[in-house]
Amino acid sequence: MEVYNFTIKEAHEKLVNKEITSVQLTKDYLDQIEKTDKDINAFLTVSRELALKQAEKVDEKIKNNEEISLLAGIPVAIKDNILVVGEKCTSSSKILENYIAPYDATVIKKLKDADCVIIGKTNMDEFAMGASTETSAYKVTKNPNDLERVPGGSSGGSAAAVAANECVYALGSDTGGSIRQPASFCGVVGMKPTYGAVSRYGLMAMASSLDQIGPITKTAEDAKIVFDVISGKDPLDSTSVKLQSSNNSNTKSLKDLVVGLPKEYFLKGVINPDVEKNIKEAIKKYESLGVRFQEISLPNTEYALAVYYIIMPCEVSANLARFDGIKYGLSEKADNLLDVYLKSRENGFGEEVRRRIILGTYALSSGYYDAYYLKAQKVRTLIKKDFEEAFKKVDLIMTPVSPFPAFKIGEKIQDPLSMYLSDIFTISLNLAGLPGISIPCGKIDKLPVGLQIIGPHFSEELILSTAQAFEK
Ligand code: GLN
Repeated sequence: MEVYNFTIKEAHEKLVNKEITSVQLTKDYLDQIEKTDKDINAFLTVSRELALKQAEKVDEKIKNNEEISLLAGIPVAIKDNILVVGEKCTSSSKILENYIAPYDATVIKKLKDADCVIIGKTNMDEFAMGASTETSAYKVTKNPNDLERVPGGSSGGSAAAVAANECVYALGSDTGGSIRQPASFCGVVGMKPTYGAVSRYGLMAMASSLDQIGPITKTAEDAKIVFDVISGKDPLDSTSVKLQSSNNSNTKSLKDLVVGLPKEYFLKGVINPDVEKNIKEAIKKYESLGVRFQEISLPNTEYALAVYYIIMPCEVSANLARFDGIKYGLSEKADNLLDVYLKSRENGFGEEVRRRIILGTYALSSGYYDAYYLKAQKVRTLIKKDFEEAFKKVDLIMTPVSPFPAFKIGEKIQDPLSMYLSDIFTISLNLAGLPGISIPCGKIDKLPVGLQIIGPHFSEELILSTAQAFEK
């Protein structure tokens, strides 16, 4: 058996040059999962049969000299809150332990149309609530760079699977940082697209005004390949939009780029000095490529965490109301209907999910609605305006993804507030609907550090080309 660390691009070349078949490639990745995943715990379900069936189809096409897409025949892992028809979909929750997806999410349909090979479903924080993958009801995923540490979260299984070469790329979802932060902890690339760029039809909703699906890959080049396939307007998700074809500001060369460094993201005491050192070195590299930097201010940054942790639980409390013990999954027996609801939810949801439902329900209740939810929405607008002002002066913004590198398993799970601080540099983008990418920019000992590149709405092309320049 061979262990590969192929990018999508490399695997595609091997396939079209007939150096390897998709079936062989898929088998080798399945073997790698079997060998390493007992230590990493990235996967909840491995879909051997489905994967090999898809691979055979692609081999047939190659044999007949048909043209194949860039993703054809290449193994991908899917976060377990995205529906793949006929496969288990649990969102890492007990309440959905035996739930089988009745249809494909739009992103899955698009990947299948591109002849991808779905190799399995990945572990995550329960219903995507967490920053370490420790709130999963099933297993704790480990960081492939250091097995004593978390892979980040909530898409920790997807990021770890890519980092451990258990798949070529993966899909994750990002409500407050859940693609970018695990990508940074695991040393891979993760992009949260602009709100509306990718359909969420078939994604289990966490907080609907914040959720986006995006790619986790080895390179920014690969992220672009995946983004191009999964993005676009979908009549089944009214928040999705048709992407404008590239405009001038989306194709700027490095020498014309002005990048903002928000001073609020580099405060002493917030950011680990070694993380800061890595980020500063990345900035120097960009400078040597001709990029100009300028200090900027995003003055409402300090409220972002508080705003997020009001709006998100409010939406969570509404979205998770559907898990009532009747419609889906776990259903506890009881004497009356109310007790079925109460018992099913009590036994089906984990502690973090319950905490957020309670917080959200409280903040939305009459008398508190104005003081919490409404006020948070107003401050959200101010945070959005900060970015609008900044993007009048600069093309992109660069920041750290996380104030610290991957922490130890167990270190923060008993202390929600310290866990929530993990998101301090990522959540503002979700509140403002902006796109952002995490790219590996250095290491502290063996622990990767991620650089975040943020752009205006629908500037994915510029973000990705700027990220690719760093890789080169
Ligand atoms: N860590 C954040 C939270 O727990 C973000 C989660 C996410 O993006 N899904 O809410």
